[in-house]
Amino acid sequence: MAMGRCEGYYRRENRRCDRDGERWDEGSNGELYLLCSYHRREAVRASVARWSGETGLRRSRPTALRPDPARGALAWG
Ligand SMILES: [Zn+2]
Repeated sequence: MAMGRCEGYYRRENRRCDRDGERWDEGSNGELYLLCSYHRREAVRASVARWSGETGLRRSRPTALRPDPARGALAWG
């Protein structure tokens, strides 16, 4: 059963990931995001955002997927 579209965010291209989400994982803001296997592997380097339904319309600031120990748990983007 498809869970929905990955909520990963490609910063350089300013777009949403096109893959299917597979698991929920926690962002640096403490909220849960649906992620594909690629974005789960990216971990510290990945960005996530909130989106309007299954569309590519972003409705929140991008947030780091996990707190980066070198930078603290700051949201960035
Ligand atoms: Zn993804």
